[in-house]
Amino acid sequence: SHMPSTPIANIVSLSDVMTTENNIPQPSGDVHLDILRNIFQHENFRGIQRRVIDVVTTNKDALAVIPTGGGKSMCYWIPGLSSTGITVVITPLMALINDQVSKLRSYGINVCCVNSSMTPEERDIIFHELTDKESPYKFFYLTPEFAMSPPATACFQAMSENKTLLRFVIDEAHCVDTWGQSFRPSYAQLSTLKQFNRPTVAFTGTATNQTKQRIVEKLGLVQPVILQSTCNRGNLVFRVINKSGPHAKEDVVKHVQENFLNVCGIVYCFSTKDTVELAYIFKSKGVSCVYYHGQLDYFERTDNARAWLSGKAQVICATSAFGMGIDKPDVRFVIHLSLPRSLEEYYQEAGRAGRDGNTSYCILMFRFEDRNKLIQLIYKSTSEDHMEFQTHSLNRVVSYCMSSICRRKLILEYFDDGFDINCNGSCDNCLTTPPLPKDYTMETINTCICLEEMLAVHAKINVKQLALTFKGSKSKRDIEAKGFHLIPHYGIGKNAFKNDADSIKFVQHLIINEVLMENIRAVDDRFTTTFITLGKKANLVRNREIQMFLRL
Ligand code: ADP
Ligand code: MG
Ligand code: ZN
Repeated sequence: SHMPSTPIANIVSLSDVMTTENNIPQPSGDVHLDILRNIFQHENFRGIQRRVIDVVTTNKDALAVIPTGGGKSMCYWIPGLSSTGITVVITPLMALINDQVSKLRSYGINVCCVNSSMTPEERDIIFHELTDKESPYKFFYLTPEFAMSPPATACFQAMSENKTLLRFVIDEAHCVDTWGQSFRPSYAQLSTLKQFNRPTVAFTGTATNQTKQRIVEKLGLVQPVILQSTCNRGNLVFRVINKSGPHAKEDVVKHVQENFLNVCGIVYCFSTKDTVELAYIFKSKGVSCVYYHGQLDYFERTDNARAWLSGKAQVICATSAFGMGIDKPDVRFVIHLSLPRSLEEYYQEAGRAGRDGNTSYCILMFRFEDRNKLIQLIYKSTSEDHMEFQTHSLNRVVSYCMSSICRRKLILEYFDDGFDINCNGSCDNCLTTPPLPKDYTMETINTCICLEEMLAVHAKINVKQLALTFKGSKSKRDIEAKGFHLIPHYGIGKNAFKNDADSIKFVQHLIINEVLMENIRAVDDRFTTTFITLGKKANLVRNREIQMFLRL
């Protein structure tokens, strides 16, 4: 499946090839800009592209953080074309490889790849061609698993001896992060590529300072130059919509029909089952729609993705298996039907909207109770030491949803992005005046005392029981049935909140601030119970070491 195409020996000859009689590009005296214009037909560099290209061409190790759609590929395509030698690109998915390979071939660039749909013999032919001193290839794409295989090691060794190995590029480098959700074990071994003594350049879309540090460590980058563009995407509008438990799917379909007529978008769902059900509802309302999840076989997956990419389907209902590296410029909305597991994941997924720079919407459907489903997943699938980290990441997402300050600011703060940005009313919170922060330290301490007293009466307390006992509501039958109205601090927060709902919201805030902890136990496969205990910050507040300022 590898069609040799015109080799590109150097740029001068290529600009000649690209020249047509009535459209003669003027050489700008700037090799990189010439490549951008003459080969890729883009007028100018975007954001920090030029800076990254300058660093990459000096053969230093580097890590570049550029948001989704920011044009990361160009940052190694151009340096790869302006030098002799082959760029080895490691990228996590076959779909991404195919996409990049066909794009480069469409520009007449000679590129090859190995993948799992080839036979070992076919792969050996490619490896062999690459070790040729006169190999015509400019780029070689493969997954980290293949990169770690013995034939690849032998191939890299030979290339490095021939001096035809220009550099390694690690795309989607956040996959090295064992603490992150898109962790791929083979990524963690990529530092062994350093044995070939070539520069390594890593790219990722979004990364906190912590993630950046882990990427540098795991890849063994040597004195890397770190290049970071602002994460801010001015054309994205952020919104959080309160989600109804039972009608959430119908609400999403209605929202799309009312707001996004005939424009294309993604709806991220919690489960495989949700993607199928939601797609069914879309279709029943006459909206063309496909679904996508990890359990589909390869052909179904690519068929569905293709239907959406080509615009034949307006909406794709997907799990987070969908989207890494998907380059569709005109995605006008990304809706999350359920909570993502971290703000990093959220921004990666939501950031697939509006790559063309036009206004696009990132909507998160929020229900506090959805947090439980994810906590449960974390409990099931995570080792002890990652549990706290992942719970904390999830709490940041919930706190993003429950906050009344600018959503853009919350996201950029999370990514340690110090840029002073102006939201210009392009998030829901900036359209209303936020409530002033108020000191809730006293209420917090009293809630903790209330909880301790309740725990003396009954072992398992839920959010609602605590909120209503604190508020002094007898309206719920189990308050009296369980004897909570008899505890000394019953109703101590009578005047703190105007109604039960606000009191419940307050308790939820204490959970995401880790003053209280929500424990989750599976009863069986389908049912779980939750109960509250004091969290790790409870004593800090009670000892007045920290205050609780909240905007409710
Ligand atoms: P990323 O990997 O950062 O998500 P891509 O490399 O897939 O982004 O590029 C996203 C889109 O931006 C592509 O369609 C690409 O052709 C386009 N692009 C890249 N650089 C430029 C540029 N300088 N000017 C205009 N479009 C560009
Ligand atoms: Mg990319
Ligand atoms: Zn805002």
